[in-house]
Amino acid sequence: MPELPEVETVRRALQRHAAGLSVGSVRGHAVRLRLPLDVAGLRKRLPGRRLDGFRRRGKFLLLDLDPAGTLLVHLGMSGRLLLCDPSSPVLPHTHLTLGLGPVLELRFVDPRRFGLIEWLQPGDEASHPTLSALGIEPLDERALRDLPPLLHVRRAPLKALLLDQRLIAGVGNIYAAEALWRSGIRPSRTGCRTALPRLERLVGEVRAVLGEAVEQGGTTIRDFASPEGNFGDFAVRLQAYGHAGEPCPRCGDAMEDERLAGRSTVWCRRCQR
Ligand SMILES: [Zn+2]
Repeated sequence: MPELPEVETVRRALQRHAAGLSVGSVRGHAVRLRLPLDVAGLRKRLPGRRLDGFRRRGKFLLLDLDPAGTLLVHLGMSGRLLLCDPSSPVLPHTHLTLGLGPVLELRFVDPRRFGLIEWLQPGDEASHPTLSALGIEPLDERALRDLPPLLHVRRAPLKALLLDQRLIAGVGNIYAAEALWRSGIRPSRTGCRTALPRLERLVGEVRAVLGEAVEQGGTTIRDFASPEGNFGDFAVRLQAYGHAGEPCPRCGDAMEDERLAGRSTVWCRRCQR
C-alpha cells in the first residue's frame, strides 16, 4: 500500500515534470472507486486548465488547477499515478488519463479500486470531511513542538495514536512500528504513561524514518514509470517491520509479532520498554 513517502515521491516527480502544463484531453470511464469516478464532470472542468502545483496532505495528493479548483487523489491500496509518453502501452485498470501538453500523459491505474479521485471547488477543502480532520503533518517542523504534548495527554497505546490520522497525518503501520523500535518504546505503552522527552524522541524518529524513505524514493524511483515501474516498491532498510522472529538488530533477542488495535506489530520485548 502506498505510504506517505511514496505519495511524497510522486508529488515531487509531478511538480518537476508537470507543473505549469495544461490539461488537454480527459479519457476514462465511470468506474466505482472509493467514490464513483465522475469522468463526464472532469471532462467539462479540466480541459484548458493549467496545473499550477501539486500538494500533499497525509496520503492525499492535491492537484491545483487554479482558479477552477483542485483534483484530490488518494492511491488507496493499489493505486498508481504514472507520467507516461502517450505512445507507451496502457496498463489494465487504467481508469483515467489526462493528456498534458503534446508529450505527456498522467494515468491513474488502480486494480483494487480503493483509490479516490474527487473534484474540489475552491473552498471545499476546508469543509471536506476527511481532509479537514487530518492532524499534524509529521514532516512539518511544528510536529516536533506540537505532537509530543498531544500524545502525552492520551490514554491509548502509542502504536494506535501514531496511526490516528486525526492526530498525525499519513503515518502507516510500517513507519509506526519502525519509529517505536528506533526509539526503544513498547508499542502498547500509553501516551499518558510515557515521559515527554521519550515522546519527543519518538516524534523525531517518525520524522527521521519518513524523511529517509522520501530521500530513498527520490534516488531509486524513475519519474517516468515504465509499465513495470512501481512507486510502491521501495522502502528504507526497515529493522522492525517484516522481521518478526528474527534477531533484534540492537539486542539479538527474537522480535515478536503481536496484534495491537487490530494491526500486526513487530517489536522487541527486551529493548522496547
Ligand atoms: Zn532488542
